[in-house]
Amino acid sequence: EISLGLVGSEMCIRDRNNPVYYLKGVSNLRASIISAELGLSRLNDLLHFFPYRYIDRTKFYKINEIINNNSEIQVVGSISALKTIQQKNGARLTGKFQDETGAMELVWFKGYKWLKDSIKINTPYVIYGKLNYFKGVFSIVHPEMDLLEDYNRKLQTKLQPVYSSTDKLVNSGVSNKIFRGYLQDLLQQIFEQIQESLSAELIVSQELIGKKEALLNIHFPTSPEMLEKAQYRLKFEELFFIQLQLVRKKLIRKNKIKGYVFAKVGDSFNEFYSKYLPFNLTNAQKKVLKEIRNDVASNAHMNRLLQGDVGSGKTIVALLAMLLAIDNGFQAAIIAPTEILASQHFNAIQELLHKMNISVALLTGSSKVKKRREIHEGLENGQLNILIGTHALLEDKVKFHNLGIAVIDEQHRFGVAQRSKMWQKNELPPHILVMTATPIPRTLAMSVYGDLDISVIDELPPGRKEVKTVHRYDSNRLAVFKFMKQEIEKGRQVYVVYPLIEESKAMDYKDLMDGHESISREFPMPKYQISIVHGKMKAADKEYEMQRFVKGETQIMVATTVIEVGVNVPNASIMVIESAERFGLSQLHQLRGRVGRGADQSYCVLLSSFKLSAEAKTRLKTMVETSDGFKIAEVDLKLRGPGNMMGTQQSGVLNLKIADVVKDTSILYKARNAAIEILQDDPNLLKPANIFIHKTYAEISKTTGAWSNIS
Ligand code: ADP
Ligand code: MG
Repeated sequence: EISLGLVGSEMCIRDRNNPVYYLKGVSNLRASIISAELGLSRLNDLLHFFPYRYIDRTKFYKINEIINNNSEIQVVGSISALKTIQQKNGARLTGKFQDETGAMELVWFKGYKWLKDSIKINTPYVIYGKLNYFKGVFSIVHPEMDLLEDYNRKLQTKLQPVYSSTDKLVNSGVSNKIFRGYLQDLLQQIFEQIQESLSAELIVSQELIGKKEALLNIHFPTSPEMLEKAQYRLKFEELFFIQLQLVRKKLIRKNKIKGYVFAKVGDSFNEFYSKYLPFNLTNAQKKVLKEIRNDVASNAHMNRLLQGDVGSGKTIVALLAMLLAIDNGFQAAIIAPTEILASQHFNAIQELLHKMNISVALLTGSSKVKKRREIHEGLENGQLNILIGTHALLEDKVKFHNLGIAVIDEQHRFGVAQRSKMWQKNELPPHILVMTATPIPRTLAMSVYGDLDISVIDELPPGRKEVKTVHRYDSNRLAVFKFMKQEIEKGRQVYVVYPLIEESKAMDYKDLMDGHESISREFPMPKYQISIVHGKMKAADKEYEMQRFVKGETQIMVATTVIEVGVNVPNASIMVIESAERFGLSQLHQLRGRVGRGADQSYCVLLSSFKLSAEAKTRLKTMVETSDGFKIAEVDLKLRGPGNMMGTQQSGVLNLKIADVVKDTSILYKARNAAIEILQDDPNLLKPANIFIHKTYAEISKTTGAWSNIS
């Protein structure tokens, strides 16, 4: 192949920003294929395209040592004869390859004409490849071959890098061997120009190897120990620059974006706290409240994520924060994802505040025109203190007089653009408190929400009884029914939930209907009343069935996961989950959160078939062992990887080149702490000691907007 990359003489290649075709042997065509297939267009991209595994090539086999279950082998020997064999489906070339202990066969289906002329007979080669065994003969198809002489001259590496590739690449002649060759050339030519990207201080304090050494060893490890050091250094660097961006963004927000100052704790807060607070706050609630108070009392804008398991008592914290706004002459709002949730918040808050002189209104899609007009007026003239609602709050017509704080329940359903609509009239953005009941493992939160402030309510109110959770096989269903009857005797109510998964919808509906039928048989009318709720029902029918259950007119609610969000029936104390092995962990956890809300001991029964995958077993076992949402989320993250966790899609944790947010947590903590320390000392990275960090940071910020997510 004629190389168009001749421009890539020693002089030109030395800028790592040069295009890939500057490399010897990389034609324009190949460069464009490499770019299209792997997204590598500059030499620097190539340098940072890391192998995904390494082959141990320390071992050389003698042919008589080879056994049938060897997978990939390496032998030194020579080819004594070549033979072309014509067949119906094309020709192949075979070579008799031998060393002093025996012989085997090499086979080529492609490029054999050229090979036939170029292979040197009776000359020592190092061959490497996947072993086949057929009728007493070992063979390797399309072996990697190097003349022993060349092999000994090459950059010696015992662990040989393997790069991910595609069919297109291989078919256009860029095999892994060729690719390795490119990197070898590149490294040899560019090595001296590789610049450090971290400060000397960081390298010393974190015990890292230098960038040059790291890049060399990640591609061509000189030893397993050096490979490990190279990986560590590059993982640290990758996580460090992400954290540097997140932490810096957070600092800029805190220092530059002004927010309203809620200077005083006034009458509403104090009156409510001393007279109407129905219980003592838990320590976790107090801690979070203090964090919020610190935020809103400063002149910086609050953007805080409040995590707390279902039932941990987020609402009261939100209410107290809103009272602070009111005490300082501002309005407050809560946005919830569904009407049911919005009206639950409204009822709860109205109940808590009814003896105080604070006006609260509910605005949803189904609010009547007259009511809406009233609300719009009250909002604009400032008489309305608290507005609670759904998306309806985000309509253009809804204009606040002065919105001081917006509480967003379950953040992932609202976009940033939507949110800013609410405070168009404001001089400054209102403080934002985002509440979520989906615990996010700490390490993931650090990468995904690392620019937000995070508060965690990690303690349930006292007196809560843990939901007793058991796993039973389908064959025990009768015993489960018997248990349900006993509890219903005592006046309790039961949920029976069926999975409904898009791909198997028809079957799932059938299961639900069959289940409903068998429960109806087991729990006959008129003694027992059963509600059924699923996605195919009309909204009005659903609501009617739900209400019957809420009012206690029915004892059993048979449902698909529509009950996941929003139903609060304290008297329901049993959750039976059918085909529990088909639910994800976070879903199981959310479902279980529907019970255990009243004073009675509650139960969760996970029913499954006998045939369980290892993963399903882990999920069910985890549910039985713990009710801690954070622990469950950690297991979930380990099982499913970050790609399936909430909020990671936009965050960039999925585009990591070498680090892994699940496995490299200890490096992540170190990287974040290092980033914080450096930015505290040198917020704009202007000190001479940080010059390399500054340079790299500037380069990364130019090419990625990737780390700016939620705001
Ligand atoms: P969530 O965090 O799921 O939104 P809620 O705010 O709805 O939880 O609170 C769940 C229940 O716990 C409510 O009935 C609430 O009144 C009660 N609760 C909240 N905090 C406490 C507390 N400190 N002590 C006792 N009960 C509490
Ligand atoms: Mg809630």
